[in-house]
Amino acid sequence: MGAFLLVLLLSFGCGDLCRDQAVAHYAWLFADAGYGHLPRERAGFLIREKDGTLTFAPWKVSDFASAHYRGGVPANTIALVHTHPDFASPWPSARDASVARRLALPVIVVSKDAVTVAMSDGTRRELFGRGWRRLR
Ligand SMILES: [Zn+2]
Repeated sequence: MGAFLLVLLLSFGCGDLCRDQAVAHYAWLFADAGYGHLPRERAGFLIREKDGTLTFAPWKVSDFASAHYRGGVPANTIALVHTHPDFASPWPSARDASVARRLALPVIVVSKDAVTVAMSDGTRRELFGRGWRRLR
């Protein structure tokens, strides 16, 4: 009951970005990035299909420290999601914030300790804190 209430409080106002389906995609992506232990980022687009289902379109795996993407943003994309490795800050970087502004999309950072987001209006916030992987 306590955990349920906490989830309700945490998810207040963050809508689709905090839904169980979204968290499942964050967890999958984070697992694919070696749970933050590998020196690479993984990334992809969070998409809200017409029926409301949240799907995920991962970018190609990159062995480099930062994920890259060339091409258009898929239709119905509601956020860009990427991982940060353990040694990096769990907060969006200045570059993440500028991408959010440029694409007019939230840029979500998935890391060991938190799921945070850079909004297109320049604000940054925490969606989930430590232990977020247990929320699924
Ligand atoms: Zn980043």
